[in-house]
Amino acid sequence: MTRVYNFSAGPSVLPESVLHKAAAEMLDYQGTGMSVMEMSHRSKPYEGIIYGAEALLREILGISDDYHVLFLQGGASLQFYMLPLNFMTLNKKADFTLTGNWPARAIEQAQTLGTVNIVGSSKDKNYWYLPEIKGADKDADYFHICYNNTTEGTQYHQLPDVGDVPLIGDISSGILSEPLDVNKFAVLYAGAQKNLGPAGVTLAIIRKDMMERIPANLPTMLSYRTHVEARSMYNTPTCYPIYVMKLVLEWIKETGRENLFKRNAEKAALLYDCLDSSAMFYNPVEKSVRSLMNVPFLPRETDKTKADAITDKFVKEAAAAGLVSLAGHRTTGGMRASIYNAMPVEGVKALVAFMKDFEAKNA
Ligand code: PMP
Repeated sequence: MTRVYNFSAGPSVLPESVLHKAAAEMLDYQGTGMSVMEMSHRSKPYEGIIYGAEALLREILGISDDYHVLFLQGGASLQFYMLPLNFMTLNKKADFTLTGNWPARAIEQAQTLGTVNIVGSSKDKNYWYLPEIKGADKDADYFHICYNNTTEGTQYHQLPDVGDVPLIGDISSGILSEPLDVNKFAVLYAGAQKNLGPAGVTLAIIRKDMMERIPANLPTMLSYRTHVEARSMYNTPTCYPIYVMKLVLEWIKETGRENLFKRNAEKAALLYDCLDSSAMFYNPVEKSVRSLMNVPFLPRETDKTKADAITDKFVKEAAAAGLVSLAGHRTTGGMRASIYNAMPVEGVKALVAFMKDFEAKNA
């Protein structure tokens, strides 16, 4: 068996020990004589899994009893619609920062339900920075940010000051990458397939006072109230992804949150230092807002045909060397290395060594 270093933006690398544990428990989960995949979600062992995952998440992320924690379906993309449907209900307007292709989609969905005020946009420079906020509305129903822009590689290491307006954050690709104060947010949401587990489960963390805003007549599955009242079990949850997420959370607990954050900073520094000293590649993002998780890089070559040839060669040769999924997002081109929590330091070191070697051979 050969495992590669997988730099995919999501679904993405999982801790190897988690995969081993899932494999070992595949046919017989803790003496039940069945796989988690075969188990009733109403059974005692499964309740242990889903509520165990919730308890771990509360502990690791520091989520107080002021918040509900939900495990939903439909991806972060469904949240783009559910959030305005449930919460843009007082003045029917919300403030957004436009910082990449994912928040652009969130904006598009909110616009179908009310007025979106774009209070900062970095679109003019391919989203390679985070914009200043201008014209925020104190009567906005909420203020939405994409905390970590997976495609463009920016991250809000400092949260915008939104006063008393409830802050909503898409933390799909940034969750547990660095310390984040949940209490600064009214709602947080994340697709799991980056830092938490496999695709299929979507996390929503909702401050309890927000529940009052939810209209009574929403379609059942689109109302957070349904899922809160049923503790994420109104219908069949995504049983197996939630189980793997629990294993990932156990791994984070064992590793230690602070160790994980330290390792993330170390990995990012290795890669950004390499890029900053490279004559062939560069990271286009403003330094203070560089993402710890997603690192886009481009050839310095300005001739597009030549630059594309360098990109193609790099991505192909890297894959042959066991460093896979390094092609950039289709909207940005170039390359991107996603270095989520489960990417070992060795993986980043291998990428840095490969990059240096590639540069020496192709200078
Ligand atoms: N938000 C961000 C920041 C993302 O990176 C992604 C997925 N890459 C999404 C939302 C959409 O998530 P999903 O595919 O789970 O709908």
